Amino acid sequence: MRITIDQDKCVASGQCVTAAMDVFDQRDEDGIVVLLTSTPPAELADDVRQAAILCPALAIHIEE
Ligand code: SF4
Repeated sequence: MRITIDQDKCVASGQCVTAAMDVFDQRDEDGIVVLLTSTPPAELADDVRQAAILCPALAIHIEE
């Protein structure tokens, strides 16, 4: 799995951090998503997929 994010689309809702806090974080100053790792371990894959589904801005893209 490889993840890319589009910070220009992100609306700082924080859904991704709730779903996968080891993979996503938010910038302190404005809440925009920060990707902690683009290649998460397999055990986090379901959480990352959930984050992408929950993201209201469709800012998370996954290549399986
Ligand atoms: S769920 Fe989407 S819009 Fe919300 S912080 Fe994460 S990337 Fe940004």
